[in-house]
Amino acid sequence: MKKCVIIGGGVVGLCSAYYLAKAGNHVTIIDASDMEDGCSYGNAGMIVPSHVIPMAQPGMIAKGVKWMFNSKSPFYVRPRLSSELLKWGYQFYRYANQKHVEASMPALRDLSLLSKELYQEFAEGKNDFAYEEKGLLMLYRTDKVGEEEIHAGKEAEKMGLKVDFLDKEATSKLESGLDLDVIGSVHYKSDAHLIPNNFNKFLKDQLVRLGVKLQTKTIVEDFTVFNQKITKIATNQGEFLADEVVLSAGSWSPMIARKLGIQISILPGKGYSFNLTKQEQAPTIPSILCEGKVAVTPMGDQIRFGGTLEVTHTKDHKINLKRVQGIVNTINAFYPNLQIEQPKKEEIWHGFRPCTPTGLPLISRSTKVSNFILATGHAMMGLSLAPATGKLVEELVGEKKLSVSNNLF
Ligand SMILES: Cc1cc2nc3c(=O)[nH]c(=O)nc-3n(C[C@H](O)[C@H](O)[C@H](O)COP(=O)(O)OP(=O)(O)OC[C@H]3O[C@@H](n4cnc5c(N)ncnc54)[C@H](O)[C@@H]3O)c2cc1C
Repeated sequence: MKKCVIIGGGVVGLCSAYYLAKAGNHVTIIDASDMEDGCSYGNAGMIVPSHVIPMAQPGMIAKGVKWMFNSKSPFYVRPRLSSELLKWGYQFYRYANQKHVEASMPALRDLSLLSKELYQEFAEGKNDFAYEEKGLLMLYRTDKVGEEEIHAGKEAEKMGLKVDFLDKEATSKLESGLDLDVIGSVHYKSDAHLIPNNFNKFLKDQLVRLGVKLQTKTIVEDFTVFNQKITKIATNQGEFLADEVVLSAGSWSPMIARKLGIQISILPGKGYSFNLTKQEQAPTIPSILCEGKVAVTPMGDQIRFGGTLEVTHTKDHKINLKRVQGIVNTINAFYPNLQIEQPKKEEIWHGFRPCTPTGLPLISRSTKVSNFILATGHAMMGLSLAPATGKLVEELVGEKKLSVSNNLF
């Protein structure tokens, strides 16, 4: 059995540790934070096999450019002179085509469906993280967006997913008791949701039980490499030894990989979320308010609203209230009876989605450093894909046949 060090204890690192420890390996997670907040905590909690089309897709660049000129829009690229940003943008442009979409769809579906199966296994116990399979409603208010959503739904159907196409009445019937200003919706029956904060707590409890060491407030700074193999990991708390090293540091992964001379293209996509205590009229099915790209998820006695993707850098912790106002305006337009107020700055959470220019995660063994495994770049699907990623990491370490195998990840 191997000694494994995982760099980054977000949901991808936690799931990787879980499957590695269950297979009998000795596992340590090293994380710079106290592992109580960050992208894996305040996200929208959606498990989305529906999302088979990667972010790099035809039409995305034109849409992004249009959104750039609206301060309340859901998408923004913070302009800066950076070779990283230029390279990322150029690669995104190269991948945003139909051929890439067609190659990616079966791969994403298989990874997502494996993840969902693994979530079902996790939820067989106490399920204190409120895992539920209610699907996902893509709600729309305009014909143009409706056409795009129906097209995406048909593509998902071709991939074997169960999808319902609902008009205004059928949508209202599904969310009876809620005043909805929409003209229709696409209901992905495949999707599920949970409370991410509780799921991470559940995983950490399992890891402690399995003997995994959680080394918090420890920053990985450098590596010693001999014969193309990492022999030591240098941190601000001393050195660590490992047979295998897994990189799951989300948006910080490129900086760490660079220490090994490995270039990976990931930029942080900043997003916001806030919670509201459930009112009498509250959504019961997780939804995306398509025109404003706002995610709405019931979580216990709360509803979580999440949105915006600002391509930026990891030091940009500014809460852009104009964009949050855009989220609030979208919510009030879709739910006329809810009429929520702009939350206070301190009530707004933000996190950095680790976005690759291909819209696909990186899950593979490095070709340059033989005991280094990448498990990162999951962008807006990190929670959704974490269990399957963790399982693949364990299979890579154990040199087993991979449950999902392709040359894309
Ligand atoms: C608003 C919003 C809504 C979202 N909704 C959903 C959703 O509904 N469903 C879904 O699937 N996904 C969603 N996501 C995306 C999801 O949250 C991310 O993809 C996921 O959390 C990424 O997890 P991770 O483990 O890769 O990275 P992270 O959670 O970012 O973890 C990386 C860890 O690495 C650590 N680290 C960094 N540098 C170092 C270092 N040098 N040394 C040691 N440790 C280090 C950090 O402290 C951090 O804990 C959403 C994201 C946002 C912002």
